Amino acid sequence: MILLTEAGIPRDLFLQVQEEMVRRARLETGTGKRRVYSGKYALSHLVYCAHCGDIYRRTQWWIRGEKIPVWRCISRIEKRKANVDCPSRTIYEKDMHAAVVTTFNQLIAQKDEFLPGMKLAMERAMQTSNSPRVTEIDERLEALQKELLKKANAKQGFEELADEIDSLREEKQDLLVEEANRAGMKQRMDELEALLAEKTTEVTEYDEGLVRQLIEKITVYDDHLAFEFKSGLETEVQM
Ligand SMILES: [Zn+2]
Repeated sequence: MILLTEAGIPRDLFLQVQEEMVRRARLETGTGKRRVYSGKYALSHLVYCAHCGDIYRRTQWWIRGEKIPVWRCISRIEKRKANVDCPSRTIYEKDMHAAVVTTFNQLIAQKDEFLPGMKLAMERAMQTSNSPRVTEIDERLEALQKELLKKANAKQGFEELADEIDSLREEKQDLLVEEANRAGMKQRMDELEALLAEKTTEVTEYDEGLVRQLIEKITVYDDHLAFEFKSGLETEVQM
């Protein structure tokens, strides 16, 4: 299922950019612990637990003398260290892969329904620019710096001026990051569109490369997996 708004625009398209930014900046899990990510499996740093916010890690279970790969929330694997009694489920890797294939096929099958809305939303977003406000801030900053210098030379207090300068610098930084993200989002959306244009038939096999290229995050809920694509699109697979 692809989650669209009434206007056919993917839900939370731009809010996600902000979240992603914060998440990447911190590179931390929901529990505030730093994790070292393994690069061996494409899913290694993408799968999150809906219960405790930690990541899912690949491990192996011995079942009837056979090693079976499964994915489990790290809080459960490291139970003694974790201090969290996480009730999240264990997922067989083959089921996880099947869900990924299913969601790719959802995208392929429904691309004509969501791509136009997605492009429209993107075009609208690209029309807004932060540069007028950035110019305004630059001008104000220049004036404030001069004023601050005067006060400092006259040995007067300049706390308030310094505070305003700090907050304006912060605002400017946020505006620049936001604009860069918007450009990045557009690029990822274009990539998704190009990729979907190539795919005219169903995907039949799990593909690590496609996962790395397209998926931003997968959250494991009790009855479904929620996928977030790098393009901002969200899908769900019941399982
Ligand atoms: Zn968990």
